[in-house]
This record gives sequence, structure tokens and C-alpha cells, in this order.
Amino acid sequence: MKKKVTASTIILLSLLLSLQEVVHFAFSLPPSHNNQDEEQSATLRPLEQNEEHVDEVHCSRERSRTAWNIIEEHLLPFMEKENYEVSTQCRLHPNNDLFRDQEQHKIHLDINHWQCGYCRKSFRAEKFLDKHFDNRHSNLLNVSHGKCLADLCGALHCDLKMDIKSRKSKCKPAAAARNKHLCESLADSCFPINEGPSANRLHELFLHQFCGAHSCTGKQKPFSRGAARQPGIFYMASSILILMLLPIFYVIVYLHRRESRNGIEVLKRISKAGRKNKPL
Ligand SMILES: [Zn+2]
Repeated sequence: MKKKVTASTIILLSLLLSLQEVVHFAFSLPPSHNNQDEEQSATLRPLEQNEEHVDEVHCSRERSRTAWNIIEEHLLPFMEKENYEVSTQCRLHPNNDLFRDQEQHKIHLDINHWQCGYCRKSFRAEKFLDKHFDNRHSNLLNVSHGKCLADLCGALHCDLKMDIKSRKSKCKPAAAARNKHLCESLADSCFPINEGPSANRLHELFLHQFCGAHSCTGKQKPFSRGAARQPGIFYMASSILILMLLPIFYVIVYLHRRESRNGIEVLKRISKAGRKNKPL
């Protein structure tokens, strides 16, 4: 009995000691191992950086990103099909997006893990990386030319994509006319009609895709020619659904067959019993 007690106390003591070691190790970790610290350091540092940053950027990064996503989804696939490249004169050209280079230097490693492509610093969310770009790498932005893609948001229907409710409010004819004008000037400069059949087709597509909906009649919807990527997403979603439903279908078939087999056996038994009873 005594032996048992001493053995259990030894085990308990060794467990306590190992637990203490774990706790000690956890608290003695250097702060640089902590991901959150990197986020904080990035957000706390800006004060000194702002002094270097003379040219203030009056361009919304978020709206520029939305505008680029719209171009990528609703225009680039059609341009690729036509094998057409816009000139740098066109404001939709990637070189005319102030933030393009920074956006291309975003490394999305995991759902909560973003990395700066310039200095490899890690962040937990995209917004922290955006802040880091503003504070640390703003010198890379070429702010001298009119390269704010967000300025084209009116023509490209960014509000609709960003789900801004003000769009549902009353349509203003003057604003709609202004956006239509901007939209048509984009179509003319990016896809000049005299530049051949491809440019011609894309010009017409651009008018349908973006410009037609800039009116208060509501007759034409934006992105009426759709997105070339949507079928891919639809295809993926339907295949996932089929894969999920397939096992359920097999279970139902199996249960149904088992039920019918049981039914046949019962019928056989009844008929056998009937035959046995008949001669009497
Ligand atoms: Zn960086």
C-alpha cells in the first residue's frame, strides 16, 4: 500500500515539474516570435515614417482594388479571348494603377497570414499589410501622374460591387450622365474603333458591359455580358454539391434495395406457409 502511495506521489511531482518547465518556456519566448507584435510594430511605427512621406496620396486603395477586380473579372477575360492589349494611354492599363505594384507584392499564405513581398514581414490581416505599405513602402508609389484607378469607379460601377447602399437611393440624372460620359471616353481611348475588328468588338462590349447601365431608366443592367470566370465558379460549386450528394444517394439506394429484399423474403415465407396449409 505504502509503495503504491510513494509511486503515485513521484509521478505527480514529475508531472508538476514538467508543467512548470512548459510554462517557463512559454513565457521566456522572445517577443519577435509573436505574429501580433509584427502587426503592432507596423502600426506603431508610422509617426517617424510620415516625415519622409511628402506627397500625400489622395486615392482610395480600397476603391482602386475594387475597380481593378471589376476590370479583371468583367473585361480582361474578353480581352484575352481577343488577344488584345490596351495601350498605356488607356487609363485601364495596369501601369496606370497607382497601387498595382504593391498589390502584386501581397503574398497570401494562409487565411490569417499575409506577407509583404518587399520585406517579408508577416501580418494577420490584409488591412494591416495595407497600413504597412502606406507607412513603409509609400516611396514606391508614383503619385505624380493621374493614376488613381478609384477615379474611374463611377464608370465601372464600384459601388455596386462594394454593396454600398446609397446606390439604391434615387438615381440622379446628372451624375448618371457624367458617369456615362467618363465610361464612353474610356471605351474610345482603350478600344479605338479604327484599330481593327478586335478593338471594335471590345469597344462594343465595353459599352454594353459598363456604359449602358448609366441611365436612370434602369433598362440595362451593368455587366450585362457577364464575367468569364463565373461559369468556373458555378462549375466548381455544382461539382462540390454533386460530390456531397452522391454518398447520400448511394445510402438511399442501398436502404431501398435492402427494404425490397426483406419484402421479397417476407412474401416468400408467406407463400411457403400458404402452400403448406393448402393441401389440408
Ligand atoms: Zn514591407
